[in-house]
Amino acid sequence: MSDTDKFEVVPLRAFKDNYIWTLRNRRYAAVVDPGDAQPVLDYLQRERLELCAILATHHHPDHVGGISELLASRSVPVYGPRGEPIATLTHPVHEGDEVEIVQLGLRFRVLDIPGHTRAHIAYYGANSLFCGDTLFACGCGRLFEGTAQQMAASLAKLAALPDATLVYSGHEYTLANIDFARAVEPDNAELAARAASESEKRRHERPTLPSTIARERQTNPFLRCTQPAVIAAASKHLGAAVSDPVQVFAAIRQWKNNY
Ligand SMILES: [Zn+2]
Repeated sequence: MSDTDKFEVVPLRAFKDNYIWTLRNRRYAAVVDPGDAQPVLDYLQRERLELCAILATHHHPDHVGGISELLASRSVPVYGPRGEPIATLTHPVHEGDEVEIVQLGLRFRVLDIPGHTRAHIAYYGANSLFCGDTLFACGCGRLFEGTAQQMAASLAKLAALPDATLVYSGHEYTLANIDFARAVEPDNAELAARAASESEKRRHERPTLPSTIARERQTNPFLRCTQPAVIAAASKHLGAAVSDPVQVFAAIRQWKNNY
């Protein structure tokens, strides 16, 4: 922690492979997707921080399950998707809303990114994107409540953010995602280089996140559905020629489900 009051982002591990992203300065912290309260409570105590806000991206228990316990001994605003059943929300938000965390000097814009769930949202600000289970490093979330069309549009919205945007996803799925991405694009040199560098991070048990939008655009097959190599791989896997980006997306999403 530096002496300045600039915020930093710290990953807290939860369950098998979840990250609870913790935004903090010297005095305050906000958490994104606290599926479990205990890692957050431990961190707040250890670092002598005061929780000032909770942000949720979608309603799955591994992202919101710790909220009520965090609220048991304190009262802080809880932001989350207006269109999903999360009983603990105090501030339901959707596309176009702003979330300001004054204690951290941060302001985020809310983006609607349905597909994994029906009203999944992301928080974008301070050159950072908190995107839950929609965009992963080299992958994307499963379609539990949305259509391929919705998910493809949500991913396109995220892919259009500035190249340097830091991408904070909800899970450490990167190495498995890279395995699949290499099956889709065996000749992608950036992807091969990424496989080596991310494996090295995991060997030292370091997070592979955050990623960047630029890196995802180069290596994430789900953001590359207009690339000839991805179109060809999707068509070959389907046994039928597809070219429409949504059909290409649907084909590789289905392929990955069974991979
Ligand atoms: Zn989820």
